[in-house]
Amino acid sequence: MRYISTRGRSGPVTVGEAFLNGLAPDGGLFLPESFPVAPETLVKTITDWNYQELASVILGLFLTDYTRQELAACIKKAYGEQFDTPAVTPVAMVGENLGFLELWHGPTCAFKDLALQLLPHLLGVAAEKSQRRQELVLLVATSGDTGKAALEGFRDVPGTKVIVFFPEDGVSTVQKRQMITQEGRNTFVVGVRGNFDQAQAGVKALLADGRFREEMAAAGKSFSSANSINWGRLVPQLVYYFKAWAELLRQQALAPGETFNVVVPTGNFGNILAAYYGKKLGLPIHKLICASNQNNVLTDFIRTGVYNRNRHFYQTISPSMDILVSSNLERLLYELVGEDPRLVAAYMDQLRRDGSYRLTAEEKASLEENFWAGFASERETTAAIKAVYDRYHYLIDPHTAVGYKVYEDYQEATGDRRPVVIAATASPFKFNRGVAAALFSPEVAEQTDEFVLMEKLSAASGVPVPPGLSSLKEKPIRHRRVIEPEAMAETVRKILDQ
Ligand SMILES: *Cc1c(COP(=O)(O)O)cnc(C)c1O
Repeated sequence: MRYISTRGRSGPVTVGEAFLNGLAPDGGLFLPESFPVAPETLVKTITDWNYQELASVILGLFLTDYTRQELAACIKKAYGEQFDTPAVTPVAMVGENLGFLELWHGPTCAFKDLALQLLPHLLGVAAEKSQRRQELVLLVATSGDTGKAALEGFRDVPGTKVIVFFPEDGVSTVQKRQMITQEGRNTFVVGVRGNFDQAQAGVKALLADGRFREEMAAAGKSFSSANSINWGRLVPQLVYYFKAWAELLRQQALAPGETFNVVVPTGNFGNILAAYYGKKLGLPIHKLICASNQNNVLTDFIRTGVYNRNRHFYQTISPSMDILVSSNLERLLYELVGEDPRLVAAYMDQLRRDGSYRLTAEEKASLEENFWAGFASERETTAAIKAVYDRYHYLIDPHTAVGYKVYEDYQEATGDRRPVVIAATASPFKFNRGVAAALFSPEVAEQTDEFVLMEKLSAASGVPVPPGLSSLKEKPIRHRRVIEPEAMAETVRKILDQ
């Protein structure tokens, strides 16, 4: 299977090259030339497979130039002891028709681990196959969770360096601590005085800068991305939606042949796109429900067909979704415009030039066939944490709470009561202030040390704090760089010159 660019101006490549490059040379995103079909046996026997087996089958459909053994070895290393449950991504059914797909059982307590525990191994095999001798430098822009997951995934992996840019004042205390205390000889963490969109634009510009790449290649370095613009981030995320289906069947929340809805708290549109690809592969998903916070650019887009980033940027209690330019939408756009890369390139030009574009009526109708969208204000997010705790005695983080609020809105608007899986994208203990404001009071949340809140929340809910989070307070700070957004290229040069 070959991979092409959404903008059509760079030639087809192997999947390994797509992983190694991250972004296509024309600035577009890589996609499989033709979409595979899931084997009927997988669908028929879905409840028989464990996570690792499901991963082998699904990844095998897309990673056609990896041997079965290579893939199995990567999967074994990725989904082992570092997850605190053998199910890897269990589904907690809290009501008859409502389940939370818990994606936070990995080492950094957010869903990014599911892809980033695997990606370094996939890249290792790809580099070996292409006989690259260059050092691979991963450039990462993060709204909080990708950064830590990438640092953990790549730390001390031979032949790699990972450089993470995060919005200095735009992440939670725990997220920041997780990153600036990162260990490993090949890890670099840089605070940016700006927001996630600025950090992401900086990374994309570097990856698409031919001269910069050539200059670095001469010094023996090549670049890739650990953001969800990299196909290697997206494809592992399909697996847990199949696992969710299997869990619904196994727990008899769903009968064979029935469909379910999926709600995904969304920022860069990666996670929900993976669910959509799952549907294309044969998952019986009815609607993909896109949940945004106050930065509701996607809600407007799905409801009106107009993407307009010219709006106020809010810092919210669900910071990993504080995004106005959702990169992965470009992959969906490719399908909406009938797989014509010139039309994708034209929309992306408009977005860069004017900050907006408008779908045709036909494209919008096609979008609405699969997607529904809503958003939650800050107050609604807090109320949702409290409501879920009171109703089900189940603790959710603010991102997941955005999903819950939008799920309620969806049911009210449509009357659709079929079973729903809400992606629980992070552990509540990563976002203690937001959760404590809901369970205790805003005053307690504001005035108490975050690590004390963590313990209080654990005591109140009876849920243990993940060990990786409780030990953070004691760890020494190892990264202190803070820069202006304009200085990203220069900073990369400095780090690599050392
Ligand atoms: C990254 C992240 C999101 C957004 O996911 P996208 O794939 O960027 O849409 C939502 N919630 C949490 C906790 C995250 O870390």
